[in-house]
Amino acid sequence: MTDKPARVRYAPSPTGYFHVGGARTALYDYLLARKTGGSFILRIEDTDQKRFNPDSVADLLDGLRFLGLDWDEGVEVGGEYGPYVQTERLEIYQKYAKQLLDAGHVYRCFCTPERLAKVNEERQKAGLNPGYDRHCRNLSPEESEARAAAGEPFTIRIKIPLTGSITLHDAIRGDITIENEIVNDAVLVKSNGIPTYHFAVVVDDHLMEITHVLRGEEWVSSFPIHLHLYDFLGWEPPVFAHLPVILNPAGKGKMSKRETRAPDGTVYPVFVHTFKELGYLPEALFNYLALVGWSYDDKTEIMTREEIIERFSLERVNSSPAAWDYDKLNHFNGMYIRNLSVPDLTDRLLPFLEKAGIHADRETMLKITPLIQERLTILSEAAAKVDFFFMDELPDFDPALLVPKKLTMADVPAILQKAHTVLAEAEFTHDGLEKALKAAAAEMGLKAGQFYQPIRVATCGRKVAPPLYGTLEVLGRETVLRRIEQAQLRLEIGD
Ligand code: GLU
Repeated sequence: MTDKPARVRYAPSPTGYFHVGGARTALYDYLLARKTGGSFILRIEDTDQKRFNPDSVADLLDGLRFLGLDWDEGVEVGGEYGPYVQTERLEIYQKYAKQLLDAGHVYRCFCTPERLAKVNEERQKAGLNPGYDRHCRNLSPEESEARAAAGEPFTIRIKIPLTGSITLHDAIRGDITIENEIVNDAVLVKSNGIPTYHFAVVVDDHLMEITHVLRGEEWVSSFPIHLHLYDFLGWEPPVFAHLPVILNPAGKGKMSKRETRAPDGTVYPVFVHTFKELGYLPEALFNYLALVGWSYDDKTEIMTREEIIERFSLERVNSSPAAWDYDKLNHFNGMYIRNLSVPDLTDRLLPFLEKAGIHADRETMLKITPLIQERLTILSEAAAKVDFFFMDELPDFDPALLVPKKLTMADVPAILQKAHTVLAEAEFTHDGLEKALKAAAAEMGLKAGQFYQPIRVATCGRKVAPPLYGTLEVLGRETVLRRIEQAQLRLEIGD
């Protein structure tokens, strides 16, 4: 759409944790900036001090960095257009508020909160939307000046034209026209002198030379205020693109703002930090997020960061909402995990093991990783799959697990004894173990699966474990024999 380098900002309000909905907006900002060789800017919109959450900025920066959405200008990075935090820019807004007041495009409103509440109540009774009745709009400049000079508190409101309409050329939705008469004279500066979002966003986007504003669909209804402000200030508006909302997995209603936990304990994450903690790979989340609302064609899904940057365009952002799909993301993550090299995956797994209290050494993990790589969906699952490799003694398990299909507890001692004899001699390599164990099963007239189950349970403490030959090889002869002996002992004690 544009070949010119775009200046695109992500402008979150620090009110909560970094949600994947916000991450999707930030990602599209980043993609447009990178695609056009432009700049990705991070600005913090913290004018609503009541909703300020002190943890949220650190969470946001960490989440952006996790996803690799490195910004060229903004908080912590600096840049020529700073400061990039709105509460550090208050003097700038004051200057433009004065300019608008002098030109008569805005007015002081001295109405008290009590009066405004009453107006709303009456409007509600009359079946109207909440809004302001423009009581102070026609105060004479002299009276307005005098009351302000006398110290009476006031807000500053925009003077929306009373007739006519205004049209937005949205890059995703096409033209949207709104009649001025239904637009409220919104507050631009609060009585404490701090601007509202509507005012600060326009001033900042202009001064920071933003070319494209990508933001959530919930802001569509605000465009008339913003476009009138651009007009009053004599500024050229940027391109606006309102992104579709993300629906919940059922496709009914917006994706939850909070994380939910199913009755079986499964967590449905919505914050970037939770995806990170669960062990979603940033490249998988990046790829998946790009497709929540955008597509390259009807079939290509797995793409590298570079391919996505190269192929991204606002034209292919869908105007209808997409539903979040945990299964698809899991599928992507599993695929990305399988495509990692063993050392890379090992290095990513080690911190997850450590966090789960498993002190795994890298050398051993390099041998275990290939045994679990095929079956991992998220990195945090690894701990429960490999813990038995790093235990001196296995915890107690139900001896009934030792009994293979179609056999009884009475058959188990002979199997364990045979396994012990064979494993005391076998060559401890994948092929050596395969050969020795298959032959032993045949000698006992058992299927391999029947013969292996007691061995697996005795050595791993569970019925479902990584592939047996590789597992025994990593455990080593000494541990394997000792665990078989312990299982034998348990059976005797149990008798
Ligand atoms: N501060 C607004 C928010 O957090 C940003 C809206 C915009 O991008 O203009 O939703």
